[in-house]
Parts: sequence; structure tokens; C-alpha cells
Amino acid sequence: MNVPIGSTVLGYPRIGGRRELKRAVERYWSGRLDEAGLYDVAAGLRAQAWRELSGLDSVPSNTFSYYDQVLDIAVLFDVIPARHRDLGLNALDTYFAMARGTDEVTPLEMTKWFDTNYHYLVPEVGPETRFALTGDKPVAEYREAASLGIKTRPVLVGPVTFLLLAKPSADAPAGFAPLSLLDGLVEQYAELLETLRAAGVEWVQLDEPAFVADRTPDELAALQDAYYRLANLSDRPNILVAGYFGDWGEALPVLAESSVEAVSLDLVAAPEAIERVALLRDKIVVAGLVEGRNVWRTDLHRAAELGARITDTGAALAVSTSCSLLHVPLDLDVETDLAPEVRSRLAFAKQKVDEVVRLGRVLLGGESADLLSGTAAGTAPRDEAVRARLAEVTPEHRTRVPYPDRADAQESRLRLPALATTTIGSFPQTGAVRQARADLRTGAIDEAGYEQRMREEVERVIRLQEEIGLDVLVHGEPERNDMVQYFAERLDGFAHTELGWVQSYGSRCVRPPILHSDLSRPAPMTVRWAEHAQSLTPKPVKGMLTGPVTILAWSFVRTDQPLADTADQVALALRDEVADLEAAGIGIIQVDEPALRETLPLRERDRKAYLDWAVGAFRLATGGAAPWTQVHTHLCYSEFGDVIHAIDGLDADVTTIEAARSRMEILADLAAIGYARGVGPGVYDIHSPRVPGTDEVAGLLTEATKAVPVTRLWANPDCGLKTRGYAEVEPALRNLVSAAIRVRGQV
Ligand code: GLN
Ligand code: ZN
Repeated sequence: MNVPIGSTVLGYPRIGGRRELKRAVERYWSGRLDEAGLYDVAAGLRAQAWRELSGLDSVPSNTFSYYDQVLDIAVLFDVIPARHRDLGLNALDTYFAMARGTDEVTPLEMTKWFDTNYHYLVPEVGPETRFALTGDKPVAEYREAASLGIKTRPVLVGPVTFLLLAKPSADAPAGFAPLSLLDGLVEQYAELLETLRAAGVEWVQLDEPAFVADRTPDELAALQDAYYRLANLSDRPNILVAGYFGDWGEALPVLAESSVEAVSLDLVAAPEAIERVALLRDKIVVAGLVEGRNVWRTDLHRAAELGARITDTGAALAVSTSCSLLHVPLDLDVETDLAPEVRSRLAFAKQKVDEVVRLGRVLLGGESADLLSGTAAGTAPRDEAVRARLAEVTPEHRTRVPYPDRADAQESRLRLPALATTTIGSFPQTGAVRQARADLRTGAIDEAGYEQRMREEVERVIRLQEEIGLDVLVHGEPERNDMVQYFAERLDGFAHTELGWVQSYGSRCVRPPILHSDLSRPAPMTVRWAEHAQSLTPKPVKGMLTGPVTILAWSFVRTDQPLADTADQVALALRDEVADLEAAGIGIIQVDEPALRETLPLRERDRKAYLDWAVGAFRLATGGAAPWTQVHTHLCYSEFGDVIHAIDGLDADVTTIEAARSRMEILADLAAIGYARGVGPGVYDIHSPRVPGTDEVAGLLTEATKAVPVTRLWANPDCGLKTRGYAEVEPALRNLVSAAIRVRGQV
């Protein structure tokens, strides 16, 4: 193998520092930009990215995407469902129809990319699928970069991971395994590799992150088979197989035995991988030394030591990020408002590229280690009061009185009917609500004016719920832009960026807050909203909080202490909020944990420890509530199996949970493990604009009463209503209430 890799990154943000791609595709979708205009913006962004990466020895290409890199592979190999193909649209519009659906057809399903907050589109494959290399995106982008004088390494999702992420198409027979199509797909990858080679490509990167999760022997055999065949092609580029977000586990020996030229190791997520590096001694080890998915500066001296250990084994070293930089904001330099002491500890994508370049010059170029000096990040300031308080936490703080006693106290206080009706918290964020936020930003109204408009909105939402006849009301969350950001802005210890956008899916970007030090709550965060809402009605109003796991999951978190400790700091702040809500007369408090399942570790062996601290933090947040305060939680995803014991472990008095799409199956599962408290299976799928009829909802509720006694059952939608419109929400909630009344009368 004569061509080294040197310094590189596994991938790079593509949305543009000012979200230029988002704006361009959205203008294209609305017809305000034509195809040629969109191509121009895209080509500009690609050229810009390549320039920013040009200090690296090996520059990645094909990391650009109009929407998603998994969708790109589907289209490249002609894996286009008939419903999208039959629309008869041109290539670009077919691509976007797969991503977003049209009035006539549904899009591909979207789901989370491993344990990140990026979402990819799930390819659909079946026995009818015929892979064919019909696209040329990786080749075209390679040529485009070459014409700018930059030689690149095309990056693609690898064939095995692609199939492991795919799902059986609607017509596939039961039990169909997408992986059974591997042969046909590998054949097309082989053709692509030959095409790339003919175009002059020296290296390709095939991403196989599916193998940092637990895999069956058959799946490992598929990996072996695929790379045996690709490596044996006579005329092909060198192959780098990249894995990230964890350790390769049993896949490492498989790759070591294959004839691929290079393998990447995520030494940030799995520093222990260094112990097995000798397995790769006849390959290039692409060492992920700079963290790709968090925002902290790298301790370059430590990284250089790790790198040197790899060289000691005889393996050839390349220096890289741990994963694609897709998951971090682009440029710290534009963040002029960050406090200097926070900023000096941060590195975004551009700064991380610079770190990799320096490491490369020292580790590979023989330059002096002085080049790494002055780069160490400072340490997080400590808040001794918070630490002292945490040190005093005992198991009692995480334990309430037994449920039967709580249930009695709550029953006599709240006097709710069986099958009580409620919602999950947010009501539609209307144009007026968004306008008020925009007016506050531009200075058209002041804080007081904004507050006034929000209070009026709360009143409107309370009156509507009373009129519809719901039993437990909410204030509607109009004042919250985002359920995590809202809290992060009110807690000490979080920093916020101006332009720190990270792609969440397609054109959608988020700006995760940065938790940089010990955390505390300077003042109540939600109390006045709950109090205002409760003052308007004799019916109980639920207080609404976001739980510790979800706050951490949707932020950048510190890595200098265990997540468990950080979660407990959040929990203590929430615990004080719970106490203040109680003191303000709020009798029901909901602590949302929609991210509980999301951040479940990829490997089974790490799950128990995670669930222990996740559940512990929730219980620390809620454990101070009086017996007569009813604690609710809300979870929203459909794969509960892995966390069902943890749901029980939260010890909430009522759990509202997504279930409309799985026809109440979750209830039997919960009953089977002995869950014996209140439960509100979502009977209205808010992800669809469809209004469910009374009969339909009553049917679901009746089904639910077979698994759970009606006295413990609630009727509610399966998530917040924020993204819906009143035109659907009003009739849907009316139907929900009449269905609950009907079923109450029948049991
Ligand atoms: N209370 C939040 C809402 O209703 C919950 C959102 C969520 O589960 N993602 O918007
Ligand atoms: Zn939800």
C-alpha cells in the first residue's frame, strides 16, 4: 500500500455556516429557486468545505448531501420505492419525494442515526429490489473537487450498514431480512469502486458504524463476506472501513483479517480499543483522536501519546476525528458573544480540523511537539454549593412513599374520574405565538409585552380545554421555543451560541446549548406560568418540566465528569422547581423524558449502568414531591422493550406513552412486568394530520381496559400538539373526550 492517508476527518458539516443549504432547499421546495440555482448553492458549499479541509493530507468528498447520506446511497443504487418512482418526477424531485413525501405519498420513515440526534431516512428493500448503480454522485463530486485542484477520498455508507439500517418494504413477506440482499448490493458497490478507480480515486471510505453495536454471528459473517469480495477486486481504490461511536468489538478481528488497507478506531468513545490495535499491524490505523461529536478542545498532548502507542505496534498511523464532524457546529470564531472562559475550552468543526492538522504534523511529519502547546482546554469551574448538596444525596431522596398510599392521597385531593382525559403539554404554536417571539427578538415589543401576549395565549388555551371538557388541563407551553432550550436558558452552567447549528434532519437544524460547568437554578423557571394557568380554572393544571436525561440528550455535555453526576445536578435543579410548583398549589407535575430510549447505549453491556443513572436522576428530581402531588412522566417512541423495566423504575404515578401506532401493545407489556400505576396510552397519533373519530378512539380505549383497570387508565394524545394546527386538534380532542365518556359508561 503505497499511498498514506496522513491527517484527515471522517466527514464534515454540509449545511453551511449560515444554513445556506437549508435556505436554498426550502426555497427550491416552495418554488422560489430553480434547480440550477440550487445546484449553484450546493457547489459553492462543497467548494467552501473542501477549501476549509485543504490543510489535511486526505480530504473527504461525497460528505455533502441535499438531505441525507443514507438516502443518497439508496438513490445511487436505485433503491427507490414504487410509490415514489411512479410519481414520474425528475431525479431531484423523486429524491425529495422520498425524503418528505408529497400530497399523494408518504416519505421514507425517518429514524435516529445510532445514538446521535441526526436522523436518517430508512431505505425500504424487499425481494423485488434490484440494485443498480444508476447514480454518479460520488464520482461527480470527486471530479468536481479535482477540477478545483483538490484530490479527495469519497465517503459512502458501506453496504452492510446500509442493509442493516434498511427495513423490509411493505410487500416483503413476513420475516424478510434486508441483509439477505447483500450479494446483489456488494456487486454494485464493486462496480462503483471500479468506476471510482477509473476516475483516479486512490482512497474510498466505507462507513460501517452498525458494527459498533452488538451483532449476530450472521451479521459478522456478512461483513466478512462483503469486504472479502470488495478487497479482492483487481482494480479498485484503497479501502478505509470506518466505524465510530464505539468499539468495533467482534468486528475488529473480521476487518483485521480482510485485505482492506485501513480501519478507523474511535479512540474517544472507546479508548480501550488501543489495546487491540496490534491486530491491525499490517494496515493503516486511522486513529480517531479528536472528538467529532462534542464541542470541547482536544488535549493534544494526550492525543499525541495515544497516537505514538499505535506507531509502536508497527501499524501505520493516520490521524483523524473520532467520527464525522457533521454533529458539531461549523465555526467557533463567529461566536463573539461567548464568555471568554467558556470559549477558550471549545472547538467546533473548523477548529477540530486544525487540531487534526497539528497532530498530523507532529505525529506524522516529525515536527516538534511544541506545536501542540498552549492548546489544552481549561477546566470547568466548580460550584462548591452544588457539589456539597450532591454529596449529601441519599437513597431516600430518590424514594417516595409507597404508591398505594400516594394513590389514596391523590385520589382524595384530585377527585378525577376513571379514564381521566388530558394532553401531553404543548398546544399548537400559532402564527401569533411565533410572531410574538419574533417581535421580542426585533425589539418591536419588550419583555413585558411578550409576557402579556403569552398570558393571553395561556388563557385562551385554558378556556378551550374547559370548553372541550378535558379533566386535567395544561397551560399549553406557548412561552417555550424548545423543551430543552427553554430550561437551558434558565439554568446557570449552560452557554448558548449564535450560529452553532447542527443538522438534525434534512433542512432542519438545532442549536444545542452547551453545558460547560456545574449547574444550578438561579430562580424558578416555570412556576409563574403554571400559577397563572391554575388561577384561571378550578380544574387541575399540570406543571410541565423536562427531565434530566432529555436535557442532557439534546445538549452538548461536559465530558470531564461522569454523565451520571451531571444528570444529578440537573435533577437537583428540577427538584427545587417541583417544590416551588407544589408551593404554588400545583397538584400534578409532569416530567417529560422523551429521550430516555434515544440515548440508550448501543451495546447491551453498557445499558444497565445508563438506565440506573437515568432512572436515578428522574427519581432525584421527583422524589421530593409530597404523596398527594401526582407525578406524571411522558415518553414518546415506540420501541419500549429495551427500557420497559426502567419505565417502571421511574416510579411516576402516571406514565403517558406513545401507543396509537402500536395498537396498545405496550399496555400488555407493562402489565406483564408488574407495572401497577397510572398509564395513559396515546390514543391519538399526533404525527399525522388525520383526526381520529370517536369510535376509533373508543375502540382503542376499550382495548386498553382489557390490559389495565379503568381506574388506572388515562385518555390522551400520544405527544405534544405543538406541531399541529387547531383545525385538527380541536375536533380530535373533542372526539377523545366523548370516547372517554362513552367507555367510562360501558365498564
Ligand atoms: N410536554 C412536551 C410537549 O407537549 C412533550 C414533548 C415531547 O414529548 N417531545 O410538547
Ligand atoms: Zn412525546
